[in-house]
Amino acid sequence: MNYDDIWGKAQAYLKNELPGHAISAWFDPVEPIGLSENKILLEVPNQFFVEWIDSHYDKQLRSSLKSINGVDYGFRFIINSNSTEISVDKTTFPQKQTRVLQQNNINKLYRFDNFIEGGNNEFAKNAAFSVANNPGENGFNPLIIYGGVGLGKTHLMHAIGNQAIELNNHLNVVIVTSEKFTLDFVNGLRKNKTIEFAQKYRKADILLIDDIQFFRGKEQTQEQFFHTFNALHQTGKQIVMTADKYPGEMKGLQDRLLSRFQSGLSVDVQPPNFEVRVAILLEKAEQNGLSLEYDIIEFIARHVKDNVRDLEGTIIRILAKSSLMNKEIDHRLVREVVQERTGGRLNNDISMEDIIKKVSNISSVSEDKIVGKSRKSEISEARQLSMFLCREIIGTSLNNIGIFFGGRDHTTVIHAVKTITDKTEKDPRIKKLLGTIKQELGYSF
Ligand code: ADP
Ligand code: MG
Repeated sequence: MNYDDIWGKAQAYLKNELPGHAISAWFDPVEPIGLSENKILLEVPNQFFVEWIDSHYDKQLRSSLKSINGVDYGFRFIINSNSTEISVDKTTFPQKQTRVLQQNNINKLYRFDNFIEGGNNEFAKNAAFSVANNPGENGFNPLIIYGGVGLGKTHLMHAIGNQAIELNNHLNVVIVTSEKFTLDFVNGLRKNKTIEFAQKYRKADILLIDDIQFFRGKEQTQEQFFHTFNALHQTGKQIVMTADKYPGEMKGLQDRLLSRFQSGLSVDVQPPNFEVRVAILLEKAEQNGLSLEYDIIEFIARHVKDNVRDLEGTIIRILAKSSLMNKEIDHRLVREVVQERTGGRLNNDISMEDIIKKVSNISSVSEDKIVGKSRKSEISEARQLSMFLCREIIGTSLNNIGIFFGGRDHTTVIHAVKTITDKTEKDPRIKKLLGTIKQELGYSF
């Protein structure tokens, strides 16, 4: 039996054991690429898959590979983009191994066509695109893409590599992080193989180096890089680098390097604005086979702001949580995830005081009365509405709501939440009232 057949059987088993979204999120992207000593080699898109499957579906995966035609198979994960760093027995997996090695450490998932463009990154994207199409033959040499974490620098760099190879697969594209460059250099020194080191890098048609800020303080590596840079630049080879800061502001890099960088183009990436965040979320949801209601997308975009990695992480977490807990993706689940990821309160600017003030304003019941003792029906309704909103919008604990509203017991709060929940279904007036209050608080969902 070959590995495709084995995996086919395992998948059939998993489909019976796990909900459909778990299969599409975590198992459809898995590709069998070989078999070694009764272990099936599974290629996954990234480390996150390894961890997730390992911590949540390990049992099912093991069972699925048990007793297939009388053999108990095991498994081992290989991460797609790093596959060259994982030692694989070449005789066992000849075909796929070459295919993966040819990828040259380029992450196939980072492409121009799935990079969302906005005012925050369009200049960088256009420069990268033009470099990919005409490496070495444009004014942008070196091209330096700089900016904060999670804003797409690495994505753009790999997109250049992917596109350049697609246009001309004879190009020698060398893509490394600055740490890998350093490591190669140090290993070269240690093993007296500095010539091999120099050759690997000087034979590049395109050299892409990620996160050059990590060259900081490594004088000898910088010297090597300086020579490599010059050799490539003089012969019209393309160099692309990413950095966390504008090169002119980088500390710990030699001046002669920094001045070389001036000869090319430095472009920045900035955090995405609201519309770009929405577009990115739509794209990431689609990539993950997830269809989310638009108001959920907006909700995430409104709360997760700083970088694209967090946006992506939020989508993955939602997927994971829904498959793990076998729950539908609804507003509640999304709120929970966003709350976890933003580390606490949602709608940061809304407090219990704000809610009481607003309810008081709209219901014409004074704030004192809302938190007071009166049981008059319009007063207790305003109180219940306020408690309900504190729970829903801020997620305050039942106990704390009770304490805030005149030292009441948490069962009173449970009762209030239930009363309002029931009324929203039956009484259009309450539903409308809630809508108005939320809107005026600047809250939606
Ligand atoms: P950086 O290298 O700047 O820290 P990355 O390139 O690693 O950031 O991006 C983090 C994640 O966000 C990656 O998964 C990447 O695909 C994604 N990403 C960043 N910017 C965009 C964008 N404009 N469109 C689509 N995905 C993006
Ligand atoms: Mg990066």
